[in-house]
Amino acid sequence: MKSFFPEKFLILIVDDNINNLQILRVILEAEGYRTTVANNGQDAINRVRVKKPDLIIIALIMSTMSGLELCDHLKFPLPLTTSPIILIRTIHEQEHLIEAFEKGVADTIIYPFNPAEILARVRTHLELKQTRYQLKQLVKEHEKLMNMLRKLASTDPLTGLWNRRHVLSVGYQEFHRACRYKRSLSVLMIDIDNFKQINDAYGHTMGDEILKGVAKSIVGSLREADYCGRFGGEEFVTLLPETDSAGAVRVAERLRRRLEQITIGIGNQHVQMTVTVGVASYQSDDSNIEVIIQRANQALYQAKSQGYNRVGLIG
Ligand code: GH3
Ligand code: MG
Ligand code: MG
Repeated sequence: MKSFFPEKFLILIVDDNINNLQILRVILEAEGYRTTVANNGQDAINRVRVKKPDLIIIALIMSTMSGLELCDHLKFPLPLTTSPIILIRTIHEQEHLIEAFEKGVADTIIYPFNPAEILARVRTHLELKQTRYQLKQLVKEHEKLMNMLRKLASTDPLTGLWNRRHVLSVGYQEFHRACRYKRSLSVLMIDIDNFKQINDAYGHTMGDEILKGVAKSIVGSLREADYCGRFGGEEFVTLLPETDSAGAVRVAERLRRRLEQITIGIGNQHVQMTVTVGVASYQSDDSNIEVIIQRANQALYQAKSQGYNRVGLIG
């Protein structure tokens, strides 16, 4: 745990006995705490709102609003503070103890004051509050890290698209949905034509730029409900839920035409490229998503064998 610095903490003391208030103030300030005071409940509520003290010490017996009533006002209807509350009581005022703890009071100190005991109790509650805060921060950081890890584990760093593993995992879910509800589901395998030649002619950096540009273009041509991932080097896969083979061929054609019309590049060097797309759709005897992906792959290579820049369909 980090070190404890009393000057970091503001303590609100609430008592209509000015003498007690002053004694407590001197004890706490001598230790290094910052203090603020109120001599009635309403003033205390205002101070809690404005000053947001880290700990509140309240006299149990006060003339206009008792310490317990003030606790109620601080907690209901909305909690004005989560800071610990310590009640000042005399040795004879034990009957209120249970009620006080039920109202969320953290501790009590007994009048006449024992400075060492007061300081020990105050410090304990402030340390607890500090530890709770640090724990909350740690949990937040942990959640942030976990989210980053989850994202890293499921995305392709170059294009920002889903990676192969994530597309397959979404594919399993979509496949089961298609089976169960007898819905359409199609897969497109998209492969950049002659990508090796582009890499060889313009360099790897240009190659990367083209992969990013093609990824962006594919995503721009799809619907919100579609998934797109980078499956391998210059190969992309898209899952099209609720889309039959005729619809999928239309999407593939639109994509192919869009890509043949654009140029991608860096600085003043721009390159044109084409893609070949294999299309396959869910058939009732398919046993899993990989079977459909395999068919889309066959469709892709069949199309490639007939010449590039085209769309091929199997099933
Ligand atoms: P085809 O038209 O038949 O698909 O041939 P191709 O040249 O497109 O395909 P091939 O499989 O022969 O070559 C793919 C190339 O993609 C080879 C590899 O160096 C390149 N590649 C794979 N991953 C990356 C990458 O992340 N960045 C870059 N710049 N190139 C990559
Ligand atoms: Mg290729
Ligand atoms: Mg390839």
